[in-house]
Amino acid sequence: MKYTLDTIPVLDAFRQDCQCPLCRLQINCEDGYLDGLLSSAYMEPECRTRTNQTGFCRRHYTLMYERRNRLGLALMTHTHLQELIRSLEETLGETGKKRSKIPFFGASGAKEESRPARIQARIDSCDICDQLEKTMRRYAFTTVRLALDREDFRQMFEAHGGACLPHTALLLDLAEETLSEKERPQFEALLRESVLGRLREIEKNLYSFTQQFDYRNAGIAPTPEAKNSVEHALNRLAGAIVGEEAALPPHND
Ligand SMILES: [Zn+2]
Ligand SMILES: [Zn+2]
Repeated sequence: MKYTLDTIPVLDAFRQDCQCPLCRLQINCEDGYLDGLLSSAYMEPECRTRTNQTGFCRRHYTLMYERRNRLGLALMTHTHLQELIRSLEETLGETGKKRSKIPFFGASGAKEESRPARIQARIDSCDICDQLEKTMRRYAFTTVRLALDREDFRQMFEAHGGACLPHTALLLDLAEETLSEKERPQFEALLRESVLGRLREIEKNLYSFTQQFDYRNAGIAPTPEAKNSVEHALNRLAGAIVGEEAALPPHND
């Protein structure tokens, strides 16, 4: 796969004071997709063909429900349901099928998924997640390139402790996919030092936070780092999920 560089948004995100600049980029993109979909994109045939097929995941149904365009959401959900009913008629129509222990390969040689797996795939598929994944791969590619090519960016990357765990996996994936044998160890060393350095700090702060609950430490005020350590740890482990880091830009719709 060929990726294009998208330098400006990546530089902007790394210049901000946040726990994971890639989480920041992801949240901003997510907000843009939600807005775009609910303002007019849902009327475009190409977009509707996609959303009819995929529907949305839990998070994105919830976020769309919280915005005010009920008509847009109703129209997309209606045509998605029509498509889903057609496919469920087939899946649930295959009555009396037993679960196969070994994957079944059909006449075409393709692996046939079990019925629960087919339904689960429907539940998991999401047009916004698909769009986000494509964009985040481009941003991760740009991050890897900038970290190798620019000293000022390398310093910002270190100062942020690299990225959260899900985005560390994404960066490593892009490094494996796109870097030469010569460049890869260089980027991987930077990633390892940055990510592990920040995780060790968070681990220490978290320990110091737990010590606050010991009666022998009563009256000693926790450091700001210890105070925020639970939030920092969760956002590092799972990507921005709690506190200000996870907040979408304010909306008045
Ligand atoms: Zn992240
Ligand atoms: Zn989604």
